[in-house]
Amino acid sequence: MLHNDQLDAWDRENFFHPSTHLAQHARGESPTRVIRTASGVHIEDRDGHKLLDAFAGLYCVNAGYGRPEIADAIADQARELAYYHSYVGHGTEASITLAKMILDRAPANMSKVYFGLGGSDANETNVKLLWYYNNILGRPEKKKIISRWRGYHGSGLVTGSLTGLELFHKKFDLPLAQVIHTEAPYYFRRDDLDQSEADFVAHCVAELEALIDREGAGTIAGFIGEPVLGTGGIVPPPEGYWAAIQAVLKKHDILLIADEVVTGFGRLGTMFGSDHYGMTPDIITIAKGLTSAYAPLSGSIVSDRVWKVLEQGTDENGPIGHGWTYSAHPIGAAAGVANLKLIDDLNLIENAGKVGKYLQQGMKDALSDHAHVGDIRGEGMLCAVEFVEDKDSRNFFDAADKIGPQISAKLLEQSKVIARAMPQGDILGFAPPFCLTRDEADTVVAATLRAVTSVLG
Ligand code: PLP
Repeated sequence: MLHNDQLDAWDRENFFHPSTHLAQHARGESPTRVIRTASGVHIEDRDGHKLLDAFAGLYCVNAGYGRPEIADAIADQARELAYYHSYVGHGTEASITLAKMILDRAPANMSKVYFGLGGSDANETNVKLLWYYNNILGRPEKKKIISRWRGYHGSGLVTGSLTGLELFHKKFDLPLAQVIHTEAPYYFRRDDLDQSEADFVAHCVAELEALIDREGAGTIAGFIGEPVLGTGGIVPPPEGYWAAIQAVLKKHDILLIADEVVTGFGRLGTMFGSDHYGMTPDIITIAKGLTSAYAPLSGSIVSDRVWKVLEQGTDENGPIGHGWTYSAHPIGAAAGVANLKLIDDLNLIENAGKVGKYLQQGMKDALSDHAHVGDIRGEGMLCAVEFVEDKDSRNFFDAADKIGPQISAKLLEQSKVIARAMPQGDILGFAPPFCLTRDEADTVVAATLRAVTSVLG
């Protein structure tokens, strides 16, 4: 086994970490965090510190850590057949079973699932499918994709463009020209503080209509959105938002991609966010919770409407020119089957709904009156606390003060609880595994109150 010093040195010398301040890390100004094992909602680092992971990794370990049912399924699959591809009609028992399990759970208008590896590549697939779809329908101009500011859809070329966060564009020459952005459904951050929620929805609709008008509906293929904005701030939509947006999309024949990488398979206390908000998407993106991150696997669930055109396309042009070596990787598929089964067997979606609500109420009881807590919100097992400098005027802190990161660091240092400082704004995000208990939720709330009080008084 390597010594800690050795690990630190090797890490800094060799490892290019994602979403990390590279220079500070290389200089040794930020800690090397080495995680060794995990169980339930806790992870343990190399020094034996046990941390309560209230963000389930990157909101992905939905079933909780250390599940032997999933680990055994992976091991069995690796022994029997670690790999075979899924091109030209090949499959495995695991991949075929998982496709059926997904479709059994998906909204009624869905037809087939294409498997990828992560959320980013799944959304790259989705954009290509919409382009292909419109080419087959003889509409080669209908190609742009509308995304929302603060949406998060990955960090590839198209998907980094879809992502509406500054850090993911700056210095990367993004967004690409085919991607355009519209208003985020973020009521708390509305410009006009006197605006009602209904008026704010009308404003989002007007902004979308104006964008479509400017660009021309004939140039726009799709609209992508997370049912609940995730990385952009954990923001449930205002009442009536999705119904109003879908009416506009329908009018202009713009397809809807529901990015359910975070919300899919139970995080809102329902199987899909689309069910939760009455959305009827044409494509659904899934990843994270599909395997609870025990192995990398994602998917694009394609509706009947899109599927029919894809079939027409291959009749006219030959096999679809799209595929990854690791599409429907047997180990990922085996993990997916075991994970979805476990989630059913343990009733984890119901627990996510109930304990998630309890967690959010606990946060409200503990923190609503704090002078610098501007908003506490959430849905299912997603919760966010947003900080403001002044509550009445809703003035935000200077980003340079890094209030959110300071509070999450304090939470870790004082109480060994992990929450995520969301990347844009002073927002503390919580997305625990679905197996969180009420006692654990109490621990998270008490720790948060302590950290907030330590940083902001
Ligand atoms: N879509 C959403 C809604 C996400 O939250 C994420 C990741 O957080 C992605 C897509 C990208 O997934 P990945 O990081 O697996 O590429």
